[in-house]
Amino acid sequence: MASLPILELAPGLTRRPFLPIVARPTPIERLPAYGERVWVKRDDLASPLYGGNKIRRWEWLLADAIDRGKTELLTVGGLGSTQVTSLIVHGAHAGLRVTGVLFDQPDTPFVHEALSLDAARGGAIIRAGGYGGTTLATLRELVRRRSRAAFVAPGASGPLANVAYVDAMLELGLQVARGEAPRPDRIVVACGSGGTAVGLALGAAILGWPTRITAVRITSFVVSNPATLGALAAGTKRLLAREGLREEIGPLALEMDHRFVGEGYGYGTPEAERGAEKYEALFGAPGEVTYSGKSMAALERVVAEHPSETIVLWNTLSTTGRATTGRGPELRASAGTPGRSSSSGC
Ligand SMILES: *Cc1c(COP(=O)(O)O)cnc(C)c1O
Repeated sequence: MASLPILELAPGLTRRPFLPIVARPTPIERLPAYGERVWVKRDDLASPLYGGNKIRRWEWLLADAIDRGKTELLTVGGLGSTQVTSLIVHGAHAGLRVTGVLFDQPDTPFVHEALSLDAARGGAIIRAGGYGGTTLATLRELVRRRSRAAFVAPGASGPLANVAYVDAMLELGLQVARGEAPRPDRIVVACGSGGTAVGLALGAAILGWPTRITAVRITSFVVSNPATLGALAAGTKRLLAREGLREEIGPLALEMDHRFVGEGYGYGTPEAERGAEKYEALFGAPGEVTYSGKSMAALERVVAEHPSETIVLWNTLSTTGRATTGRGPELRASAGTPGRSSSSGC
């Protein structure tokens, strides 16, 4: 098994199946566009095949599915779901057949890009319409597959999945200890199902850091709220304790920021549109309004509101393996085109 810092603290985890796919550590870099005190943790580069924040989870969840003899994965997401795309890419790489049941979300260039990537990478896609139809289609597909398929719920957060971001925070702890970056006062991260933000907050508590996690809510309050995040944290703590974690984890410095969600999951706002453009200018791959646009908007606001803090943006959106990469920021500026549509003609 790869040497993850979490394994030294919770050694029972070494007995769990694990499929190493993350190129770690992911870089920690300055974001000079915001001045000397703003940094970015590049989980967009977590894998050359397709990066982003789901990849660390797949190391545990895909290994677990294979260990249980599963040959297929069934998952659910919006039309432009990064979870579905990354599961198709990495599941197929591990020899599993992946089916995604997709619910409608507002149409954007990123949605087209994601759908064409899903098809190009051999995923089976079922477009199920609204939430009700999606639930029924998912149940039908699960029953059809009986025990062949492992089910990956929307967002894929859960105690085992969240261990991945506890470990990611410890990875940042080691980078800071090596002097590669200062200890951040705050980390800004997009928050959907919450496992990423909760894992980071647990990791910060384990490190003994006072670092605040600003979880930028990008989906409805019913799905993502202090109670759901608290339940995830409690479940993850229990799992870590069972796997041998000795230290008491104190209160979490986890704050939700509800200001950027707009109409809801997948809906653009003027700030998110600007944030998506900023993302492309900074990272050289198109942003989108669901996650990266809203977290960039939050970053800008939070940087202004906390003028003396060292702040890290945790980049959760893949910039690798995308249909539209290869159009760098400079090129885009000189061409003067939006550059946010799919190159595959979808
Ligand atoms: C899934 C996802 C998130 C949200 O992560 P959660 O752990 O579900 O809160 C943020 N950004 C991107 C790009 C994602 O795909």
